Amino acid sequence: MALINHIIEGAATAGSSGQTAPVYNPATGEQIADVAMGGAAEVNAAVAAAKTAFETWSATPPAKRARVMFRLRDILDARRDEVARTISVEHGKTHDDALGEVTRALEVVEYACGIPEKLKGDFSRDVGPGIDSCAERQALGVVAGITPFNFPAMVPLWMIPMAVACGNTFVLKPSERDPSSANLVYDLFREAGLPEGVLNVVHGGKDAVDAILDHKDVQAVSFVGSTPVAEYIYSRGCTAGKRVQALGGAKNHMIILPDADIDQAADALMGAGFGSAGERCMAVSVAVPVGEETADRLVAKLAPQVQALRIGPSTDPDAEMGPVITKQAQDRIVGLIDKGESEGADVVVDGRDFRLQGYEGGFWVGGTLLDRVTPEMTVYREEIFGPVLSVLRAGSYDEAVNLINAHEYGNGTAIFTRDGDAARDFANRIQVGMVGVNVPIPVPVAYHSFGGWKRSIFGAHGIYGPEAVHFYTRLKTVTSRWPTGIRAGAEFNFPSMG
Ligand code: NAD
Repeated sequence: MALINHIIEGAATAGSSGQTAPVYNPATGEQIADVAMGGAAEVNAAVAAAKTAFETWSATPPAKRARVMFRLRDILDARRDEVARTISVEHGKTHDDALGEVTRALEVVEYACGIPEKLKGDFSRDVGPGIDSCAERQALGVVAGITPFNFPAMVPLWMIPMAVACGNTFVLKPSERDPSSANLVYDLFREAGLPEGVLNVVHGGKDAVDAILDHKDVQAVSFVGSTPVAEYIYSRGCTAGKRVQALGGAKNHMIILPDADIDQAADALMGAGFGSAGERCMAVSVAVPVGEETADRLVAKLAPQVQALRIGPSTDPDAEMGPVITKQAQDRIVGLIDKGESEGADVVVDGRDFRLQGYEGGFWVGGTLLDRVTPEMTVYREEIFGPVLSVLRAGSYDEAVNLINAHEYGNGTAIFTRDGDAARDFANRIQVGMVGVNVPIPVPVAYHSFGGWKRSIFGAHGIYGPEAVHFYTRLKTVTSRWPTGIRAGAEFNFPSMG
């Protein structure tokens, strides 16, 4: 069985923990590799390498750091097919979906190419007689990223280009479920000319994460994953004095007003609900049609489309979605559909027994449509993270808005309507970080920043874009006066620069 190694100070290593975890092809259910599972020893070695590399890398002119990003951009573009295949083998998403993941990652690299402009400081002459003031942003030091399984290349690339372009060095702890993409990302950075030690990869689970959170030389932690782990990482990391941004789970609603184009809304729900088997933090998992008639028309449109979903392995170019990530995920999703049914939801399309010929061992769940879901049901309260779309019928627009605002998550949301006034009111009142108007998955582009509200994020900064420049740097303000040759003696009052 192939072993997926850590990469510390430029060298692949199995580490000293002796622990490994199995990595599966989710389409077949077969184990395809082992991944080394690191702990404190591997994290300590990676942080030490990153700390040494920081001295030279942070002193490298931003324009030279940007040149690495320009080269990375071209390499990633040229090798996007290979990156997409690496993602799909362990994750299971379709090839086209994986290509989309690579494109969104590429856009963050492109934004990082402009880092010299982003790091430009502010200067004020004559803040007092003969006194000038300069505000600049300096790199933090060693920073770490802890990433989820569902975007094994994109989420690391949400973090690393911005962090290292700002002058930091990096320790990545990827998901142990699909770890190969992280090592490929590492190779691309090295090929682009990133010096040894600036980026290190430590594989593992909780032991490695805890070692990162407790390490005194890690200045900041970026996390993307589920809410319970995000909350844990935020509180333990902050207690250890680190800067932490922890992005968590989601339950994204899409409101369909009576005036919406129902064909368009149904198409949007199909892609946003079932693309990537629903394993996206921006997946729409709840459709909220307003009014019984809208609901009936929507469910009538959706049901045959969900029934007809083309499900297959990533090697099938016609597949619209693949398997889910693990046997545990499959069992959990099926269990939640059971629970939805027992709590009173109508199972309009049932994906629980889906099997694919030739792939009987794979982790499959068919597309599932639940109607007449209510706010009390477990399928509504919990993030399912699978190909299950719930329909929650609202009596009015206000009821729909209040429903969303009452949910514990606030990652993404959308409204489908032709009414500009309603859309404007929605965008203003809704307690959610990323809002789409006739756009089902409103993931901000790389020159904006990504982040939800409420229990979908812990910490003050969104990820990538301008927020990343703030997260990965700290402010320094230098106030200078050069001697004029006139000595006035010491001043003991609080300085007013007057
Ligand atoms: P996860 O929380 O299980 O794992 C994320 C990372 O945390 C992995 O690297 C994992 O090894 C580590 N981890 C897991 N359990 C841990 C523990 N007890 N202590 C310390 N570390 C631990 O998440 P996942 O299943 O890989 O990813 C799916 C989740 O991520 C979903 O909830 C999804 O909504 C969320 N997600 C959110 C965003 C966002 O931007 N808000 C983006 C992608 C995914």
